[in-house]
Amino acid sequence: MDTEALQIIERKRPNMVNSTLNVGKLSEGFVLDHIEAGKSMEIYKFLHLDKLDCCVAIIKNAKSSKMGKKDIIKIECPIDFMDLDILGFIDHNITVNIIQNEQIVEKKLLKLPAKIKNVIRCKNPRCITSIEQGLDQIFILTDEEKQVYRCKYCEEKHRSMK
Ligand SMILES: [Zn+2]
Repeated sequence: MDTEALQIIERKRPNMVNSTLNVGKLSEGFVLDHIEAGKSMEIYKFLHLDKLDCCVAIIKNAKSSKMGKKDIIKIECPIDFMDLDILGFIDHNITVNIIQNEQIVEKKLLKLPAKIKNVIRCKNPRCITSIEQGLDQIFILTDEEKQVYRCKYCEEKHRSMK
């Protein structure tokens, strides 16, 4: 191939965006990996990250060999600061990496939480939580295999979102 042809090829190569977007290393916190692409904002809301005074990075549509595309959330905060059990309810396929001193010290396996508080609302209009405002919305895991949650007060069924 002569030089001129090579130059044309060079010029035709699209400007690739650097796909290894690096938001800097965490000294302490969590990296939530393998989030279904497009779901990161939902998780951001569920974890009330908007109310926390800590550094949060959301990476959307990162390349994944396993999933094609995925979202990642990085949260810099003390690791005993946050209860991530609720993630098991939202999507137990998310990988939770716990970071300390810039190293992954633990990969947390998510499972369905036994009890969830103030995340979902009971849809039964006759339930006491529908009548009494300010009462905690508590659901209990009653069937782990089928991922069934029931209202603590009226036993109305709620299925896991996944
Ligand atoms: Zn209820």
